[in-house]
Amino acid sequence: MQHLLDDIAAMAAADPERGVVASYIPELAGIDPNQFGIAIATADGEVLTAGDAETPFSIQSVSKIFALALALGRVGDQLWRRVGREPSGLSFDSMLLLEREDGIPRNPFINAGALVTTDTYLAGSTPREALGELLRFMRAAADDDSIHINETVAKSEFRTAHRNFSLAHYLASFGNLRASVEKVLGTYCHQCAVEMSCRQLALAGRFLVDAPLMPGLVSVERRRRINALMMTCGHYDGSGDFAFRVGMPGKSGVGGGILVISPGRASIAVWSPGLNRYGNSKLGTEAMETFAHRTGWSVFGVPHSAEGIKR
Ligand code: GLU
Repeated sequence: MQHLLDDIAAMAAADPERGVVASYIPELAGIDPNQFGIAIATADGEVLTAGDAETPFSIQSVSKIFALALALGRVGDQLWRRVGREPSGLSFDSMLLLEREDGIPRNPFINAGALVTTDTYLAGSTPREALGELLRFMRAAADDDSIHINETVAKSEFRTAHRNFSLAHYLASFGNLRASVEKVLGTYCHQCAVEMSCRQLALAGRFLVDAPLMPGLVSVERRRRINALMMTCGHYDGSGDFAFRVGMPGKSGVGGGILVISPGRASIAVWSPGLNRYGNSKLGTEAMETFAHRTGWSVFGVPHSAEGIKR
């Protein structure tokens, strides 16, 4: 496994086509695209890394997994009255379906759905309390109290969040927000500005792995459902392509991070800031394709021709 990670990091380092760094959040626009990291936290408690796996990055939409777990913890299945569970086939910040579907976002991973999720875990608390709860969840999942929010990134995103404000106002006009638009957006931008390294993110993802040594922060049924949503909706309009190429549930963020779960086996975090045309990490997606190919790991079947890497 260490050889495989080293190979993948070497391939990424040599790749001249690195994708395009997200520029709509000013603080993220200046990130060096020549970075690449990968980390795996296995079901038997090992953590292996390669490349820039200790460098913190903005997890952005990968935070929507933790936010979803928290919101489901608050209201359970009632959440599904306010947000759907279908892939949108549209970009992460699209407004198109909201009007046609009466302000019920397609799923909790597109921005509109994530704003409803944030509004749900925010209910009855101040943004500071709600974010404190979110951080506690992430820190418990990763067993690492140093995980924090980058204030500068949060402020930078809030100042330029015109589309997210529009989505939130739209949701509010349909009665699908409880807190004020400003409060929801402030909380959402801070949630997205959480920083983790690949090592921390791989550890934080263990609660979704479904194996005896992994942190049991959510029920088995909830874990399976979150994985199902990651598989169908975790990469926006590139979700089908990711499932086809990688065959494991994953969630991407515009910071270039991707968290991938191999149920029963491992939590894998990969990061490279340049994005492909869907807004998902270009080298991260390619690295996961190589990883899946070489290990034979897939939720759609057992390994045959792989290198014999078991758990
Ligand atoms: N904070 C970003 C936004 O709302 C998240 C998008 C993403 O990571 O895909 O635009």
